[in-house]
Parts: sequence; C-alpha cells; structure tokens
Amino acid sequence: MDSVLATILQNPHFNDEGKKLITRAYNTAVINHKNQKRISGEDLISHPATVATFLSEHNLDAKTIAAALLHDSIEDTPLTLKTIEEKLGGEVAFLVEGVTKLSKIDYSDDIKKASHIDSLKKMLFAMAQDIRVILIKLADRLHNMQTLSYLPTEKRKRIAQETLEIYAPIAGRLGMGQLKGDLEDLAFPYVYPQEYAWLMKVAKNKFANRAQYVENIKPIIKRRLLEANIPVIDIHSRVKHQLSLYKKMVKEDLDINNILDLVAMRIIVPDIKSCYEVLGVIHKYYKPLAGLIKDFIAVPKPNGYRSLHTTVFCEKGKIVEIQIRTPEMHEFAESGIAAHWAYSEGGKENATFANQKETYWVAELRNFLKSAESGEDISGLKMDFFKNRIFVFTPKGEVKDLPEGATPIDFAYAIHTDLGNSIKGAKIGGKIVPLEYELKNEDVVEILKSKIKKPSLDWLRFVKTNQAQSKIRAWFRKNKPIHNANQ
Ligand code: MN
Repeated sequence: MDSVLATILQNPHFNDEGKKLITRAYNTAVINHKNQKRISGEDLISHPATVATFLSEHNLDAKTIAAALLHDSIEDTPLTLKTIEEKLGGEVAFLVEGVTKLSKIDYSDDIKKASHIDSLKKMLFAMAQDIRVILIKLADRLHNMQTLSYLPTEKRKRIAQETLEIYAPIAGRLGMGQLKGDLEDLAFPYVYPQEYAWLMKVAKNKFANRAQYVENIKPIIKRRLLEANIPVIDIHSRVKHQLSLYKKMVKEDLDINNILDLVAMRIIVPDIKSCYEVLGVIHKYYKPLAGLIKDFIAVPKPNGYRSLHTTVFCEKGKIVEIQIRTPEMHEFAESGIAAHWAYSEGGKENATFANQKETYWVAELRNFLKSAESGEDISGLKMDFFKNRIFVFTPKGEVKDLPEGATPIDFAYAIHTDLGNSIKGAKIGGKIVPLEYELKNEDVVEILKSKIKKPSLDWLRFVKTNQAQSKIRAWFRKNKPIHNANQ
C-alpha cells in the first residue's frame, strides 16, 4: 500500500512541506483504518488512497490530498476532527469536516419524493464554502462507482441514480468534462440497463471500426502537419461517452450512422497560432462539411471551453470530426476547475492560463469564495456562480439546465418534443405565467398541455434554446400542408 504514497509524492507539484503533510495524513489514515475491509475484500485504506491519487493526478494542493486521505476517518474510525486539526492543521480539518457533512446528506428522502432539489441546494452551498470539498466528494464518488458491482443490487441503482442526477451535473458545471462523462458512463448500465444493452448492441462494432480508422489516418495527418512545419505535441482519438451518445441518439432521432463524432481526432499543438495553421492544413487536404467549423477559441463556450472543431471528408471520403487545441486548453477541457486550482496553488501560472482564468465561471467563483470567506450572506450569491445557466425543476423534481432567459416553452422542449408541441401554458408555484415568461433559478414549472399538438411560429421570437427553435421549425416543415388544409 505504501507504493500509493510513493506515487503521490512523486508529483513534482508538491514542495517538502506538502510532502510531509501528505505523509503524516497517510500514516494517520493507515493506522485508523487498520483491519477495516471494503465489501470488495480490499483493505479499507485502498479507498481513500485511490481518491487521493486521483486528486494528485489533477495536481491539487497538498492540503486537499491530506483531506482526501482522511475523508472517511470521522465516520468510520475513532479519529476526531480535533485530532486532525492538531496533527494536520485547521484547513485540512475544515476540508474533512466539509466532506463528512456532505456525506450525511440523506438523498434517500429525495429519491422517495423523486426530487433532488434539496440535495442540489446543499451541494451548491458546500461548493460556496470551499470548492475543494466538492472535488474530494466527486473523486470519492468516482471510486465508489468504479467498485459499485460489489454492493447489493438494490443499493447499486440508487447510488447510480444519485450519481447521474447530482454528481455528474456538478462535475459538468465545474468544467470537469472527463469526470462528468466517466461518472455518467459508470452509472448508465445500472440506471438504464435495457437502454445500455441496446446501445452496446448497436454501437459496439461502430466504435471499434471508427477507432481503428482514426488510428489509421493518424500518421497521414501527422506527416502533413510536419511537412507544413507545424510542431505537433500529440494526436489522439477521443471516443464519445456512452450516455451522451445515447441521449443524442434519442433526442435527435438519430441512426448511429449519422453520429459524426463517435470517435473524434484530437490534435494538440503548442500555441493558438499553430491551432489555426492546423485548421488551414486540414482544410487544404480535406473538404469541411458546411456549418460544422466551430471556433471556440475566438468565441469560447460559456464554461470556458476552447478548441477549434471541424468535420471533414477525410481519407477514403470518410467523415471525421477533428478537434484542435493547445495543452492548456486541453487540460482545462478535461479538468475544469481542478486545473484552475492546480495552477493557482502551485504558482505555475502562465500567461495563457491567466487568460483562461478570466472565463466567467472562474471569475464568478472567485467572488463567490471571497464573499463566503468574509462571512457575508451567500445564500443569494451562490446561484450567481451559475450565471448564464439556470436550474429549473419539474413538479417531480427532475432538473433541467437551461440558459438564462429561457421560457416555459424551452423547458417543455427540453423534456420532450411532444410536450413542447402541445404546451398551452405553464404554472409556477401554482400560478399561471405567460409563455414568454423568463424562468428563474429553482422555479418548479408545471406545463399545461392542450389536446392539439400545434406550436406557434410566434414562439420563435422569444424562445432561447436552439433545441426549441429547431423543434418548432421541424414541426412546421413537417405539418405545413395538413395545417393549411385544416384552415
Ligand atoms: Mn469515501
């Protein structure tokens, strides 16, 4: 087990003081979890050790690693917070306490009511106090999901569902794209076993074929880039996450053959100038598909994501999505806020990253933590962290994540096309609101349906999501002749 400690300490990110702190935390955890076993039969210490390793791989600071090693100590061992504070300092104790408190949130009540509103609120609040508490909790959940098969059947589904409804969306909001996808894919077979089996049947060979194809074209692309004197750091393939693939197929009524980004190619180059040069070379040799060239470097996504995307007819005329980015953009896309913490703690900040840091959510978070530190009332502020996005709930407690200014119509289409097409009104807190009403965070929205499914072209003036717009347009394209005949 001590090899785990050695691995963590190898990270050049930690200074001597940090290494000492981590070693002390590790030894404390080993002593306290002595003779305890996981259901899998492994020594219990393997769990906090895995959680700490994950966070160390994301370059989190030594105090977070120390807290991760002790995150289950208060619950499962005689160790007290006071002892942790004496041995490892107030900040580590504070983080351990935060994680312990989060673990005490009883989701089972929420699940009974089929509502996650309270749990989400508590998570957001914990986030406000110290984002590292959530990062430890997310790493904890990842390992618990990886070892879920050891738990009794009835527990598996509940935990997997919690993961889908609470943890994965939070990872997503923090910009931790890789973790979000991993959590979702681990939960998918437990929550939707039939759908998962279906997807595997439909997609398995496709995944393999596409991955092989991208492997095959890698050397060709690399050669073309080197010929153009572009320094290439890495070319790798990105396989689409399973649950997001499934959702895309259901939502868009798609055939697996029409999913163009099942396996995408990723090209990593040292700087922004090289990114555009790569795009130039790609388009010189391969014709791009109209409307699929996306410049998220000039116009980053609201969560700070940056990259160039293009979809081209590549070798042998096959369609491939290509994503082009710098190492900093890559780290940010995969680790989100964890990457931010890593840099600001390690003092390794560089100019490129300083720019990325200015993306809205990191700036928001900074304000957010400042207010939390100064002891201000943060209950109103906590939602500002999600500026540009709002959480809206169905009466059953299902959460939808919508852009600011979204209307009940956007909400209805986000749930189901049929519901959108048949909306005639909406109630919020029992009161009827107009269809162009701008939804507020935490609104619980009840959609009133008419018997006839018929959207109005007028709606296009005020709906906010592309989804609602395209669904409305699609309805009119499809129903125009019938519609006219009926008039
Ligand atoms: Mn744990």
